[in-house]
Amino acid sequence: MIIMEKGATQEQINDVIDEIKKHGLRVDISRGEFRTVIGLIGDESKISFANLSIMPGVKEARMVETPYKLISRDYSDLFINKDESRIVKVGDVRIGGDDPVFIAGPCAVESREQIFRIAREVKGAGAHILRGGIYKPRSSVHSFQGLGSQGEAEAREALGWLRAAGREYDMPVMTEVRGEYQTELIGEYVDILQIGARNMYDQDLLSRVGRTGKPVLFKRHFGASIEEFLSFSEYIVAEGNKDVILCERGIVPVGKGNSYTRYTLDLGAVPVVRRETYLPIIVDPSHAAGRRDLIFDMSCAAIAVGAHGLVIETHYNPKEAIVDAKQMITPGELKDVIDATNQISKITTFYRKKIN
Ligand code: PEP
Ligand code: MN
Repeated sequence: MIIMEKGATQEQINDVIDEIKKHGLRVDISRGEFRTVIGLIGDESKISFANLSIMPGVKEARMVETPYKLISRDYSDLFINKDESRIVKVGDVRIGGDDPVFIAGPCAVESREQIFRIAREVKGAGAHILRGGIYKPRSSVHSFQGLGSQGEAEAREALGWLRAAGREYDMPVMTEVRGEYQTELIGEYVDILQIGARNMYDQDLLSRVGRTGKPVLFKRHFGASIEEFLSFSEYIVAEGNKDVILCERGIVPVGKGNSYTRYTLDLGAVPVVRRETYLPIIVDPSHAAGRRDLIFDMSCAAIAVGAHGLVIETHYNPKEAIVDAKQMITPGELKDVIDATNQISKITTFYRKKIN
């Protein structure tokens, strides 16, 4: 990264950018209140930092030693205080601040009536953002794949319901982009593009979604280390899109495994991620637990360790849901989660600020 002098001129900044581009690298430009920092995207060994550091207007040129650079606190600490995160703005909702954000809705959008009723009830419970799958990642080709998989007309219809339900109840909406070809279609209808756990490693999908410029909810793969999780999120950010919300949703444990929960929620990842990057991180207890009786406890824990919000699968009648019925909670139960975690957040946020 190249830190420019406070008084560096635009011409000097442009000269540095040209020099970097000449070596086949791309740039990320961050303009702080006082100075500009230029991040390098690509193979840094192709360029001489000694030469860059003596260019006019350059204060310092140094390598960032992590595989993720643009999202690391090393790169951003000039702009964002330690422990403060980037605020991702989606409509009137702010993700990454002191107040937790709640994303709720069904696993899959099944009908207009279903998504409208759930939207009304989760809004009543205090949710800020509506979720609902249109293209579902499923282990079996014989399972319901989501309405979107039935064809473009069906996808547009379901996306239209999701968007209309969000408008009716004043909530931004989110759905998963499971394949590259779905990106622009989904982008026409929703506010947040979700990358599912199974696609965390799909570089081309990440770049394509990044280029839409829309906020992205980026889920951790169940086999990914924290370093991989953060490194792959940088494929989105490298397209000039820093509106990425990270999401911990459970991993497969090393060793004997565990048959009591669907995955193992890695709560330690939350404070680690907050130290490593300025991107906000939220937690999905639904897919981690796989069972509704654990959602309250796991939600409380997630907010206590510093998650900026929760994604919770919710249905007025969980038993009738086609996908993930076992882990859905009702809007009434969601309200208890929201009320309790809002109180927990006030206490832990107060002390976190004090000790940091
Ligand atoms: C989902 O949120 O709908 C989902 C399928 O989750 P994950 O990608 O975490 O399994
Ligand atoms: Mn689900």
